[in-house]
Amino acid sequence: MLKVDGITKYYGDFLAVDHLSFEVKPGEIFGLLGVNGAGKTTTFRMIMGLLEPSSGNITLNGKKIDYSVTDEIGFLTEERSLLTKLTVLEQCIYYGTLKGMTKEKIISRLKELLARFEISEYIDKPIKQLSKGNQQKVQFITSIINEPKLLILDEPFSGLDPFNVELFKAEIKRMSEAGSMIIFSSHRMEHVELFCKKLVIMLHGRPVIEGYLHDIKEQYRKKNIFIRADINPEDLKQIEGVVSVDVRPDEMEVKIRDNEVIQKVFEVVSKKAKNVLKFVVEEPSLNEIFVEKVGEEYDK
Ligand code: ATP
Repeated sequence: MLKVDGITKYYGDFLAVDHLSFEVKPGEIFGLLGVNGAGKTTTFRMIMGLLEPSSGNITLNGKKIDYSVTDEIGFLTEERSLLTKLTVLEQCIYYGTLKGMTKEKIISRLKELLARFEISEYIDKPIKQLSKGNQQKVQFITSIINEPKLLILDEPFSGLDPFNVELFKAEIKRMSEAGSMIIFSSHRMEHVELFCKKLVIMLHGRPVIEGYLHDIKEQYRKKNIFIRADINPEDLKQIEGVVSVDVRPDEMEVKIRDNEVIQKVFEVVSKKAKNVLKFVVEEPSLNEIFVEKVGEEYDK
């Protein structure tokens, strides 16, 4: 298990990470979210042992992370750092050897991964001849070549098209099913929703939302109802517990205080609306929860 326990990081007087704690167990995919400058990369560098926390502790299976465990870790940095004159094969042999792998093992694992990422034909091509997206695939492959027990991915999806995002997600899921602990950062909430169960959202170095996604959504009681029907929005706004009614070209989005309001809205729609084509209750998105929470934080 990775245990991050109350870490704080100052750069001079500037507090970049403020009392951050979380745990990642084998098989878990953990999301570290936050807008630019929230402290995600600083946190990763501390986990990797590249930066010393100002206070707090980080342990992997009860031990401080140092050179003795680096063979078990994979790290995809935010800055893409491939040696672009090397071929894909040479690059992976270089990284794999650093991780203590034999050449035979590196080659067999590389062939398997290149096939999965649909770029087998580039194995002997210099990296600089590959497109940006394919270079990113190669960088991702180098970070997982050693089948790491702890995999840290800093903005792994940035710059990828939706098809490649799915390829990356599938591989990350496969690794979690094989028991790896995975942490990834993103400033795009939608990359997290269908994908990781546990997360922390940081703002100015501080965790503002944390825990299991399911619990976060449960605790946030508001819901959204999408209605497509002929109805006067004023009839909906008057219902007690309706927070807002947003009229869109083809539907209305009705935000409600909690589950108890659903029935009241349904009754008004049944009585007053004509041509009802849609009445759907949805949980709010993580982005919506974040925006509201961040608003509260700024108000403090
Ligand atoms: P992004 O999404 O933009 O990569 P991030 O969440 O990864 O951002 P960090 O790179 O960890 O954020 O930076 C957190 C804060 O610490 C920022 O305000 C940044 O300017 C500051 N910071 C980062 N590195 C240093 C440094 N070496 N010296 C001083 N301040 C730094």
